[in-house]
Amino acid sequence: MNNRLYGSLIFELSQEGRRGYSLSRNRFGDYKVPSEMRRKEDARLPECDELTVVRHYTNHSANNFGVNNGFYPLGSCTMKYNPAIDEEVAAMPEFANLHPLQPHGTVKGAEALCGMLSRALQAITGMAAFTFKPYAGAHGELAGLMVIRAYHESRGDVKRTKVIVPDSAHGTNPASASVCGLDVVEVKSRPDGTVDVDDLRGLLDDTIAAMMMTNPNTLGLFEKSIPEIAALVHDCGALMYYDGANLNPMLGACRPGDMGFDVMHINLHKTFATPHGGGGPGAGPVGVRHGLEQFMPMVSPYHGNFAVEMRAYAYILSLGRENIKYVGPLATLNANYIKESLKDDYELPIDGLCKHEFVFDGLKDKSTGVTTMDIAKRLLDYGYHAPTIYFPLLFHESLMIEPTESESKETMDGFIDVMRRIAVEARETPDVVKTAPHSTPIGRVDDVLAAKHPVVTYRQMCSGA
Ligand SMILES: *Cc1c(COP(=O)(O)O)cnc(C)c1O
Repeated sequence: MNNRLYGSLIFELSQEGRRGYSLSRNRFGDYKVPSEMRRKEDARLPECDELTVVRHYTNHSANNFGVNNGFYPLGSCTMKYNPAIDEEVAAMPEFANLHPLQPHGTVKGAEALCGMLSRALQAITGMAAFTFKPYAGAHGELAGLMVIRAYHESRGDVKRTKVIVPDSAHGTNPASASVCGLDVVEVKSRPDGTVDVDDLRGLLDDTIAAMMMTNPNTLGLFEKSIPEIAALVHDCGALMYYDGANLNPMLGACRPGDMGFDVMHINLHKTFATPHGGGGPGAGPVGVRHGLEQFMPMVSPYHGNFAVEMRAYAYILSLGRENIKYVGPLATLNANYIKESLKDDYELPIDGLCKHEFVFDGLKDKSTGVTTMDIAKRLLDYGYHAPTIYFPLLFHESLMIEPTESESKETMDGFIDVMRRIAVEARETPDVVKTAPHSTPIGRVDDVLAAKHPVVTYRQMCSGA
């Protein structure tokens, strides 16, 4: 591997005095920066010719892996194909050049589109109103819990300070509750992976503000007891919160608003297109049932992540009312196809029909010493992104696979073949798997060292100054 191309920072390629840009003159004319606002020393910027800069970033970008490169079965993340038309729409100058502070009269069209997206989401979820302010799912959870808190406070019911969260929940659920100043109470799962209603009964009293649920849950299982759970939670005076990260398999099948949920968020970047990963971008609009609209908080200025919203609206319109109904069933079909094809080689702790994703508990043959981490790393050698690993925490060797509805049978068959091949390697040549990856620019990294001693700054080995 050419280290100059793959390993270096742009600062390390710097040559003093090298120049390479062709910027146009400031089109606003010249102006003087007041002397008290000027730097005392020149900024230490890298000095490179244009071609070096172009190669540097192009080569780095070639090390990225995305849905457009290959199969990306990252459970819980819904890494579906993002149709190119959604990008075109988001990039339209009429949208991309909008400024949040331009006169109101000039943004009526954009505002109208937000209203149309809101109505589409209302129809899809059964909620009465949406706010687009939250920037991601976790931000939506916080905003939604703020709605619930404000609702209880408006009734003078201030002792409701606890949120019930299933033990299978995504880590953002307890984190959001905590950020909102609420205490977390964990409800157990039954051996079949769904919420234990008897355990829940014992937790409900007049200190409970809300119950948070993901459905299908993080094991990819449909929570069949929701009507009963919603009745119990409402009877005790609390509200039901729906974590909409797994809305994808529900599209066309059912609506959270019809199941008794009062407040929810949608991860637009998961269910409705937007290339996401690596921390962004996203949008987490929050929906509420009638009577809760006035409690929606200001968690960001303006209209949230407008470009993500336009991608979502383009995605919804391009599928249309009829075709969007196939999203959920096809995502479910694909997940079950992979699960059934691999369950002889991989441990399936909870058998039966799953929804859009499922969880293996490592290899079935536990004698090989090959772990879920090893399998994930070995998949990189075969050109696949790894599934989600070691989540959910209910099993020791969780390997969580979500193919989404976008994938063809041939792509899934290719993945199934490779997963079977890795199971054979684990038996016959386990060291190859345990030392993987072998074909990536960087081999196996020490995750623990990286977490304990993160290197997050670059020390300039600087020059004259
Ligand atoms: C992704 C996810 C979240 C958090 O959403 P972000 O948009 O990443 O903030 C919450 N809950 C579940 C179940 C998720 O999968």
